[in-house]
Amino acid sequence: MIDSAAPDTGTNDKMDYQRILEDIARAAQAEIGKGKVADYIPALARVSPQKLGIAIETLRGESFLWGDAEEPFSIQSISKVFTLAMAFALEGEKLWQRVGLEPSGNPFNSLVQLEYEKGIPRNPFINAGSIVVADVLLGHYKDPKTGILEFVHKLSGSSDIQFDKEVMRSEWETGHRNAALAYFMKSLGNIHHPVEDVLNVYFHQCALPMSCRQLAKAFLVFANHGILPDTGERILTLSQAKRLNAIMLTCGFYDEAGEFAFRVGLPGKSGVGGGIVAIIPNELAIAAWSPELNEHGNSQAGILALELFTTLTGMSIF
Ligand code: GLN
Repeated sequence: MIDSAAPDTGTNDKMDYQRILEDIARAAQAEIGKGKVADYIPALARVSPQKLGIAIETLRGESFLWGDAEEPFSIQSISKVFTLAMAFALEGEKLWQRVGLEPSGNPFNSLVQLEYEKGIPRNPFINAGSIVVADVLLGHYKDPKTGILEFVHKLSGSSDIQFDKEVMRSEWETGHRNAALAYFMKSLGNIHHPVEDVLNVYFHQCALPMSCRQLAKAFLVFANHGILPDTGERILTLSQAKRLNAIMLTCGFYDEAGEFAFRVGLPGKSGVGGGIVAIIPNELAIAAWSPELNEHGNSQAGILALELFTTLTGMSIF
């Protein structure tokens, strides 16, 4: 844990993000070797643990990149933010009848809580919650997979992002626990479409490859109160954007959400591919990628990189 007695609180205009990135990356590199690359989805285990990328995209249109910042990796659970934004925009507050808003304090694929809570997942960022969100999308789109791709293309400005079929197949082959969650919710009436169709959407969204740069760019809309910075198009209402950021802050890191808020202090989301992305409202989005995970399934070096970023810049939402 890093405690800064005298953060650099110069104005953001003068902030030397590139120099800060270099400092962060050096410290983050020293973390490599301390975590473990996810192997419960075999296709993820093939990624080199040495990869390290960091990208900052600002609302002023600047990009600051380090290392493997432009190499696509499996975004996994970061995709839950995109599908939630789509479902929230379509359903509004009705969505919260089917998925809760409390931090889970449990691992992302926990079954036990779901039974206690009668098939209503704690929040939309644990697997069960995102599976419900996938079911909601099936109620609005003939083919939600195409809808998800179009949404991600629009937010990131990159129309070449496609599902990684190998990762998707690997998810299907080993996703028994996700299937259990979905069938269990189906038995309690919280899944309305055939379980296979719902899982197919969920496994596809997790199998999206994006780079740190593309992720940071795509998350700028959440730093910009729901408006796409490039086109001015409103994706979420002001209130929805505020709420989505609140859910990222409280639930974005599973049973490490409290510690992430404490150490980093930004709304964000992680995935078991080793990606983390976070936003500073009105300012920027920052994404880090390092495949080795800590015991909570969050990137070991990625968390340190973001912690150092808020410490060295003195920037925070608090
Ligand atoms: N596809 C992964 C799973 O369902 C996503 C988990 C994650 O990134 N936390 O287990």
